[in-house]
Amino acid sequence: MSASDPLLAPVKGAERREIGGVQMEVVRAGSGRVKRVIYRPGFRWSKDMKGIVGTDLCMHAHVGFLVSGQIHIEYADGCRLEFSAPQVVAIEPGHDGWVVGTEPAVLVEFDFEGETARRFGMPEDHRHGGAGHKGADPTA
Ligand SMILES: [Zn+2]
Repeated sequence: MSASDPLLAPVKGAERREIGGVQMEVVRAGSGRVKRVIYRPGFRWSKDMKGIVGTDLCMHAHVGFLVSGQIHIEYADGCRLEFSAPQVVAIEPGHDGWVVGTEPAVLVEFDFEGETARRFGMPEDHRHGGAGHKGADPTA
């Protein structure tokens, strides 16, 4: 991908910020936000963000669409998720995550800031038997 690639080009009307090497472009939509987030190859939340955020795991919910690249998610209980574009992403709070491979992961996310999990009907952290994750059966 090049700098002129529309997946990476500046998003019209967005507020742009960079945290822990993650490039975010954010546009408000009603009480929510739409974000284009670019995670560089080699990014790992526990290495690049943990010290900035100050929690053991990422406590944000992530809901959106992985446009490009691959990401790996691990919850505290050892459950793992692999996402490979093009794929819808629904990640509960309480996870580590990293970019797989040599391409940036480009994620289009929808959030409600601190209320994202609740507004999407997800648990406040990853657990079994809750509203989100239904257990170990991968075919369920
Ligand atoms: Zn689990």
